[in-house]
Amino acid sequence: MVSSTKAVGVHDHPCFNFDNSFARSLEGFFVSCQAEPAVAPKMLQFNHALAEELGLDPVALDSDAGLAIFSGNTTPEGSEPLAQAYAGHQFGGFSPQLGDGRALLLGEVIDTQQRRRDIQLKGSGRTPFSRGGDGKSALGPVLREYLVAEAMHALGIPTTRALAAVTTGEDVYRESVLPGAILTRVAESHIRIGTFQYGAARGDSDKVRKLADYAIARHYPDTAEAENPYLAFFAAVADAQAALVARWMNIGFIHGVMNTDNTTISGETIDYGPCAFMDRYAPSTVFSSIDQHGRYAYANQPEILTWNLARLAETLIPFVDSNKERAIELLTETIECIQPLYESHWLAGMRSKIGLSTEDPLDLKLINDLLSVMEKGNADFTTVFRRLSQALRGDNDTVRNLFAEPSAFDVWTQRWQKRLEQDGVLAETNAQAMDRVNPIYIPRNHKVEEALAAAVNQGDMTPFSELLAVLNHPFDEVAGNEAYAAPAPITNRPYQTFCGT
Ligand code: AMP
Ligand code: MG
Repeated sequence: MVSSTKAVGVHDHPCFNFDNSFARSLEGFFVSCQAEPAVAPKMLQFNHALAEELGLDPVALDSDAGLAIFSGNTTPEGSEPLAQAYAGHQFGGFSPQLGDGRALLLGEVIDTQQRRRDIQLKGSGRTPFSRGGDGKSALGPVLREYLVAEAMHALGIPTTRALAAVTTGEDVYRESVLPGAILTRVAESHIRIGTFQYGAARGDSDKVRKLADYAIARHYPDTAEAENPYLAFFAAVADAQAALVARWMNIGFIHGVMNTDNTTISGETIDYGPCAFMDRYAPSTVFSSIDQHGRYAYANQPEILTWNLARLAETLIPFVDSNKERAIELLTETIECIQPLYESHWLAGMRSKIGLSTEDPLDLKLINDLLSVMEKGNADFTTVFRRLSQALRGDNDTVRNLFAEPSAFDVWTQRWQKRLEQDGVLAETNAQAMDRVNPIYIPRNHKVEEALAAAVNQGDMTPFSELLAVLNHPFDEVAGNEAYAAPAPITNRPYQTFCGT
């Protein structure tokens, strides 16, 4: 219920109306457990708009009662907290048991669009899956996930969301002593490719089938009607993931840890650990300190997409056909369609980025040539695309000046202009459409670091709040916000990110 419809004084009891289908349906895929109490919790950030979308009362939740829930100190009515089990290929190596080592699913709610959404605490203490870990999160990574998830949402990219960030009042021990924090994360579900691998690794085919049936009903109900529902389910996940990775590539996003346990069945981006946006266009860019061989480099993401989906396919073999050979053949055919599918999503995204509304066989080359001119010219990915609309408005220099060697860009521009004439769309109409797909504000790495450092070192949330406000409207240019649009100052040290633990 929206708060404004309520009378003053009736906001005291936050009510989630949980309906916990995962707990009801998928025994064997979770362990019930409780959050560890937080000694001195404090609310740092609360997402009113998301609370409303979830059908929750933002006023009731942005309160001491809400803080008690988001810090793990109170289990809200109807919640059945549990840690989910999953396995996963991490950097290519298989771990048969990972699971929520520092997360707890509080339960599911039905949002105002009738979508089922998970409410999860991340950083709420040890679970049976914690292995050697402390089950906690440090403030920096919690705020990073909050910022980037909300930025991705505003960019129109499927993602888990951030409902609240609280500090626990406790220290967590990493390379240094850091303030502890908890993120409340919202997802269409937290089922991962690794969840299927968990069941399959135990040889429990009934359980995997139950999981598949559950995922079909929850995420892809239409596939239940298909001639071969499990094959159709696989194709639907593949399409959602192909579309997702295409969006990442269209926007210059590098996930950083595309392990199968970080690949959702819903097609949402999940687990913002060492993720970052690329500034200068360089396809081999890797930010993550632990990705020494560049497995999850920007340009490798589409290939990893297929690799990860092949791991999902392996778990579905028994259900696709009783004849194993035939099942493998059918799944392989679908796997072979993933790259072309990805490319068509990517190309559609790129066409709209350069203002094309029709299809021409030469578009792929036109777009790849722009990327190659950008790479050679050391140009900023986000800024080039954004400023192309200025060229349509008659100001070519603002984009041209971004290239170290503008002559190659000039040649490209002539080809581009010719191609635009073919479409015959009014320049201003086109420029406006381009400004709705090419953001001006993305989470620039130095700006994110600045906001996190102020919060963690000085307890100052102002830079965070200001950055979040800008990122909530990534396509709308605002005078005075130039610093948020600029790439990081060039330094000798490459930007590095660290796993969000
Ligand atoms: P992630 O890097 O978030 O994808 O996590 C990989 C695995 O490590 C998951 O099973 C996590 O639950 C687990 N994990 C990460 N950090 C911690 C921690 N501080 N305590 C316990 N488990 C953790
Ligand atoms: Mg993970």
